[in-house]
Amino acid sequence: MTHHICDLVIIGGGCAGLSLANQLAQQSSALSVHILEARSHYTNDKTWCFWSNIENEWTALAKQRWNQWSFQYGDHDTPIIHHGGDWYYYCLDAKSVYQTIQQNLLHAYQIKLQMNQTVATVVHADPTDNYQQAAQSATVTTTSGDIYTAKLVIDTRPPKKMQSTLYQSFFGIECKTQVAHENTAALMHNLQADEYGTRFNYILPISPNRVLFEHTRFSTLAIDKASMEAACQHEMERVGLEYSAIFRKEYGCLPMGQEKNDDPFAAGIAGGALRNASGYGFLRIQQWAQQIARQLAQPQATMTITDVLASCPDEHPWLTWMDKLFLNTIKANPEQSAYYFHRLTKHLNSGQFLRLMTDKPCNTDLIAIMYALPKWPFLKQLLSSSRNRQPQDALV
Ligand SMILES: Cc1cc2nc3c(=O)[nH]c(=O)nc-3n(C[C@H](O)[C@H](O)[C@H](O)COP(=O)(O)OP(=O)(O)OC[C@H]3O[C@@H](n4cnc5c(N)ncnc54)[C@H](O)[C@@H]3O)c2cc1C
Repeated sequence: MTHHICDLVIIGGGCAGLSLANQLAQQSSALSVHILEARSHYTNDKTWCFWSNIENEWTALAKQRWNQWSFQYGDHDTPIIHHGGDWYYYCLDAKSVYQTIQQNLLHAYQIKLQMNQTVATVVHADPTDNYQQAAQSATVTTTSGDIYTAKLVIDTRPPKKMQSTLYQSFFGIECKTQVAHENTAALMHNLQADEYGTRFNYILPISPNRVLFEHTRFSTLAIDKASMEAACQHEMERVGLEYSAIFRKEYGCLPMGQEKNDDPFAAGIAGGALRNASGYGFLRIQQWAQQIARQLAQPQATMTITDVLASCPDEHPWLTWMDKLFLNTIKANPEQSAYYFHRLTKHLNSGQFLRLMTDKPCNTDLIAIMYALPKWPFLKQLLSSSRNRQPQDALV
């Protein structure tokens, strides 16, 4: 059993935990930090994809990028193709992100990544304490009996109970095959719906003989890994995708329209990092990490711990409102959900779609979105939401 004293403990060395440590290192923070990660080592457990029109450290790590992307309603419709202009859809191996950040941390001697450290209990500091004057009163205990005492603990462990409007369950298989159209990422193909919600295939042609084929469901039920793997295999056979070898597999079950978490110390998915309507989180986490690292290094004298942790601006209330309305309408009309996505991808132009996906729709985009979607189910949902709204509720 060992006892460590530091300024900051980050629980979880996944995307959010490592990204925050990376930012602290890049901003030459003087804080002493321990990142406690349960895993013994990193594997290539995910691909992280995102849109960008600028080059940065993450785009430089991409294993592939595409300048156009497509959507196909059902099995037989001709795919709708969106052209990105100066925007690309980038795809990174999680392994390369983990490795790069570990390399960066080698130069920050005061930041220590501790693998094999499963956190058992946490006692947080009083969030109303002044951040600069706070004592080292937070304590973390690991299953091996090690104790960490710090001024602040940021907890990026995945939420234990994940209440959300819908769940995005997916299973992907990266395999050796011959693929056509390498310059197009198929974001939603064979788009269909049933009484449980939406399902589609997400197909990334990584190279002429390598593809990531992912089957995805948006539904009120969180679907387990084995069922999603079977569904993915079934879809590969159904669409006639033959492969000669499997390189890797990935599974996820993400909340869509997560209940707001009032815990000021929670970050990453547990802290609401994912975009409600899409499950994208990689770039949002990078932005959060950059801003929190800045606040931790240079807080205003009067800031409480809560102020420092909440200093990352929330997404625009309109976007939150729109996403929630969209998800609630899908929940109420699961069999129509594929049609709603089809209308959006068909009636929004590439720029409008890109701004929607990158969290920056402008006012005219909102009008275009309303125009694209069938009016009655959304109006009905809006009326029913306002009827059920509690006085303290936000917009929906
Ligand atoms: C398979 C998959 C693919 C995804 N693809 C994309 C994508 O393409 N684009 C995108 O924008 N988003 C994507 N996401 C969503 C999101 O970006 C990721 O889920 C991201 O990893 C979330 O970061 P996080 O830090 O919250 O969680 P994680 O990265 O899961 O990190 C949590 C960490 O906490 C550790 N941990 C758990 N319990 C303990 C404990 N008791 N003690 C210590 N450590 C603990 C875990 O081992 C883990 O390392 C994907 C998600 C998944 C699952």
